[in-house]
Amino acid sequence: MFSSAALGLTDMKSLHIAIAGAGTTGLAAAAFLVRAGHDVRLFERFSEPRPLGAGILLQPTGLACLAQLGLDGDAIRLGARIDAIAGETALGRTVLDMAYAQLAPHYFGVGIHRGALFGILHHEVLRLGIPVTADVQVARSDLGSSGRRLVDTAGREHGPFDLVIDATGLRSPLRREADAQVRERPFPWGALWSAVPLPAEWPGKAILRQRYDGARVMIGVLPIGRLPGQDRDLAAFFWSLRADQYETWKAAGMNAWRSRVVALWPELEPVIAGLLRPDDLTFATYSDMTMRTPIGDRLVIVGDAAHCTSPQLGQGANLGLADAATLARCLSEGTDLAEALARYADARRRHVRFYQFASRWLTPFFQSESSAAAAMRDLTFGPASRLPFARRHMLATLAGIKTGPFSQLDPGDWHEAYRTAPQPAQAIAAVRQTVAPPG
Ligand SMILES: Cc1cc2nc3c(=O)[nH]c(=O)nc-3n(C[C@H](O)[C@H](O)[C@H](O)COP(=O)(O)OP(=O)(O)OC[C@H]3O[C@@H](n4cnc5c(N)ncnc54)[C@H](O)[C@@H]3O)c2cc1C
Repeated sequence: MFSSAALGLTDMKSLHIAIAGAGTTGLAAAAFLVRAGHDVRLFERFSEPRPLGAGILLQPTGLACLAQLGLDGDAIRLGARIDAIAGETALGRTVLDMAYAQLAPHYFGVGIHRGALFGILHHEVLRLGIPVTADVQVARSDLGSSGRRLVDTAGREHGPFDLVIDATGLRSPLRREADAQVRERPFPWGALWSAVPLPAEWPGKAILRQRYDGARVMIGVLPIGRLPGQDRDLAAFFWSLRADQYETWKAAGMNAWRSRVVALWPELEPVIAGLLRPDDLTFATYSDMTMRTPIGDRLVIVGDAAHCTSPQLGQGANLGLADAATLARCLSEGTDLAEALARYADARRRHVRFYQFASRWLTPFFQSESSAAAAMRDLTFGPASRLPFARRHMLATLAGIKTGPFSQLDPGDWHEAYRTAPQPAQAIAAVRQTVAPPG
């Protein structure tokens, strides 16, 4: 197998590309790049690619990228349409009350089971005939005159390739090859989560609902639709927990914890009724990681591998989808690989940096020991969201479109139907038609 680099030239129309990691970002990147005419091979550490983690809230940004692949309809059909986010304190004070339609009439989010999103993308990868080499735990990559090779933990070499894309997520083994000065800081808080049946009488099936008690307690319920072939409506249930308290929580027993949840939010009794053992919930921790640059020689780092954050703003998978769509566009517009990668890094910088900054800045208001931060949140967020100027910025942040304090991108650049201010009325109608009315 020869890369075009081995022949002394790089044919930008048909690059020989390796993608490490078959998660949301890696699968989407593979689909975009094969459709653009490149020769792509995926490498995954597990023997069967499989989804890990919680429910996902797809934003108009992520949906627009899926639309470019013709997959937004599948996500909308399997997931639950989310029109609004509502957060209140245990005493009933409104902290967040925002509807996507206040930003653009055709906007909404989609709560989706991670397995359902994975299934949609994995099916597309199989349909496109993209080879997935399983059981390969990538350890590093080596650059030679014939291209870049992947080296796995068993010492096997794969390649050479014209380009290696690292989509291995939070614990990327390759990111330091692009930037030796990566900054990584684990968040002290994480979240317990579980996919639970959503009771038929649950109020607000098109709403991401949250409840807070200070900044030490945050509970969330995100409707996430169904798994393929199943007819039960599900929700992702979240309970915020400090990482160093996980063992104490496990030891304290489920009855005391369930009583505490129900005392704070009585409607949750049927939602958590099936959570009987600690293992019925998964504990997720996260890190804040920043890179000065996500590109190296024949190397690009995408998705969580390049910019993991706290999931406070629900943007990680959406950022990964945007990385994948933008990378494919930059490669097809570029005349030279290094120039195309530099263009990619430039195109993604502001969007990624804004959400990293916003997550870092907002997380202490929702997950910390600070009573002052919680009091400030409870006093200011609700009134601020009623002021048109502040509400517009808060909504744009939620929808995933901000690139700076006063700038934003337009998901319509990925797919016309998701343009923030669509010109043709048919575009709005087309998006609405795909969407089942909320139950
Ligand atoms: C509790 C929680 C809630 C979240 N909620 C949201 C939300 O509502 N909306 C949202 O957009 N995002 C959310 N996120 C973030 C989102 O899950 C991530 O941003 C997203 O999954 C990143 O996708 P990825 O493909 O880049 O990385 P990953 O999903 O981590 O995929 C990495 C892939 O690489 C493979 N891999 C890893 N190491 C290697 C190796 N060495 N060799 C080969 N393969 C390897 C893994 O097995 C995996 O398949 C949430 C995260 C958490 C923890």
